[in-house]
Amino acid sequence: MWRLDAAFLSTPSTLATRSTPFSICRIRPEVIQAIMTQLEKARRGIITPEMEYVAKSEGCDLKQLVEGIAAGKIVIPSNAHRNLAQPRAVGEGLRTKINANIGTSAEYPDIEDELLKLDAALDAGADAIMDLSTGGDIPAIRRQILAKTPVPLGTVPMYEAAVKVIAEKGSIVKMTAEDMFSVIESQAREGVDFMTLHCGVTRESVARLQKQGRVTDVVSRGGAFLVCWMLGNETENPLYTEYDRILEIAREHDVTLSLGDGLRPGCLADATDRAQVQELIILGELVKRARNAGVQAMVEGPGHVPLNQVAANMLLEKRLCEDAPFYVLGPLVTDVAPGYDHITAAIGGAVAAMSGADFLCYVTPSEHLGLPTVQDVRDGVIASRIAGHAADVAKGLRGAMDWDVRMSSARKARDWNKQVELAIDPKKAAALRAKRSGGSEDVCSMCSSFCAMKVVEEYLGLPSEKLQDKAAKDLAE
Ligand code: SF4
Repeated sequence: MWRLDAAFLSTPSTLATRSTPFSICRIRPEVIQAIMTQLEKARRGIITPEMEYVAKSEGCDLKQLVEGIAAGKIVIPSNAHRNLAQPRAVGEGLRTKINANIGTSAEYPDIEDELLKLDAALDAGADAIMDLSTGGDIPAIRRQILAKTPVPLGTVPMYEAAVKVIAEKGSIVKMTAEDMFSVIESQAREGVDFMTLHCGVTRESVARLQKQGRVTDVVSRGGAFLVCWMLGNETENPLYTEYDRILEIAREHDVTLSLGDGLRPGCLADATDRAQVQELIILGELVKRARNAGVQAMVEGPGHVPLNQVAANMLLEKRLCEDAPFYVLGPLVTDVAPGYDHITAAIGGAVAAMSGADFLCYVTPSEHLGLPTVQDVRDGVIASRIAGHAADVAKGLRGAMDWDVRMSSARKARDWNKQVELAIDPKKAAALRAKRSGGSEDVCSMCSSFCAMKVVEEYLGLPSEKLQDKAAKDLAE
């Protein structure tokens, strides 16, 4: 284990690396043991293998990365018990990350389908996976998914707790705080990297929701379980009252908290209302407590938001939550496109990421209609990646525009192999080229012999003395 010296974090000088021995010293293993989270290590200038991997894969400055983690503006969801093959960082100055939700339901409890979806999501380039299983043997399913996932894996522990309680006791209202915490703790021990916990669903925020009224009330499953439990038991949310207990578990296992938006708007008409903002204010306070406890935290956001409110939502989160990484669910910018919600989410996701969101949760074409298929998962990841990349280009993120320039050069050269190689979805690009090439290697079947780039290239590339000959030849044909 390596540590950068104290000057490292305060000096704007060149990047210190393992090859610059003056800025590195050894830390005793027992000291490292006591410092569990990536956040705590960053504060002490300790470079972890995960930080090194991220800096290399992002092509970013290691010093800035460490400073961002230390400030809580960047998180590396990586459970202390996991040895992630492909760690990811989420937050300021980094590539927009994409999450894919998979998981069984009561109607489709088959793990095999979910493992195929996992493969599809990873193949399509997902940066993180969430197992949202609510059907079958949930712990066994999670363990299989965990074993096969090289990127951070997230869960919503409330799902397992609620399904178990309903199966054993018949009603969500009979759940105890202990039922919730035992699942959180067991999942943390198993190696879950980040957890959605709806700690901001409080009696105050629920009362605000009841008072103002909504078109779609509560659409978060975890939020709905909690609201019913709180109203049924006339008591406060234990995830809020016993937040310190969550922090202890999260710190011990380095689980990144993904502070859930249980009262997120489920339709455009409910967006940016008092209940949503009230919950966000509470989440901002909880982010601060997490940082003080050395626990990594990000914040989840909407949901369904009209396009003209997306940027404002990003600003609100960054302001109220002190620049904590923002993980948005879409956002979907219209409610009228079932079957195409990967597109409505990509439109919102692009604007959100351009305006400050760091992490986009994909939406599939099956959203609002049913559990996604393997193809839906692939289409959802690609749509969100397009949104994230478009935002990265707009933000001037290092290397983002270069990708587009390389593609454009290949397009101009009509180099189909290169275009397929550079495509965000090479498989689809290759299949379409094979199916609709028109048989020419030099042009595609869109304009064929009228290929604009080829025609202009033939003229632009000629020296002036040969232009007249070329024109005469073309006129004669
Ligand atoms: S034929 Fe038309 S669409 Fe195809 S490469 Fe040429 S200009 Fe582009």
